[in-house]
Amino acid sequence: RDEVDIITGALTFKEKTASMVMTKFGDVFMLPLNSILDFKTVSKVMESGHSRIPVYQGKRDNVVGLLHVKDLAFIDPDDRTPLESVIKYYNHSIVEVYSHTHLDKLLDIFKQGRTHMVLVVHIDTDSDTDPVKEVVGIATLEDVIEEIIQAEIIDE
Ligand code: ADP
Repeated sequence: RDEVDIITGALTFKEKTASMVMTKFGDVFMLPLNSILDFKTVSKVMESGHSRIPVYQGKRDNVVGLLHVKDLAFIDPDDRTPLESVIKYYNHSIVEVYSHTHLDKLLDIFKQGRTHMVLVVHIDTDSDTDPVKEVVGIATLEDVIEEIIQAEIIDE
């Protein structure tokens, strides 16, 4: 059964798109850029259980950075370090993909190793006005692998 699922998944994942596997933007745990990395904020990050946290400025869909939980290794909550200085220091790249990007393309991006999380964006060209870009979700390597193996990976 497992083998059949994996073979089916491997043959069909190319036809699926980023928007079909992403975590919807409303469900993404994020931090505002003006956060202070005090005990409360660091605890919230740890409780989220996620290893990559998008960081926004002003409005939630204005993503300006990415925090990796391992960036916090040398942070002492008593120092009340501004998140902004950590974001500037590590400067992890934020890669955007269109919502209709096929999963084989997405896997290629992850294989290149620059990032294992992308922002999924949708461009609305239907309206009469200029095209509007909207962030609709995030996707990680795990989301793609789950589609290939046709099973959920339960986090540790
Ligand atoms: P992590 O272990 O850090 O959660 P994974 O790449 O293993 O990261 O992803 C596991 C699932 O969690 C995926 O479905 C992914 O879309 C989702 N995910 C990753 N980071 C976040 C986040 N900051 N907020 C909400 N969901 C996230």
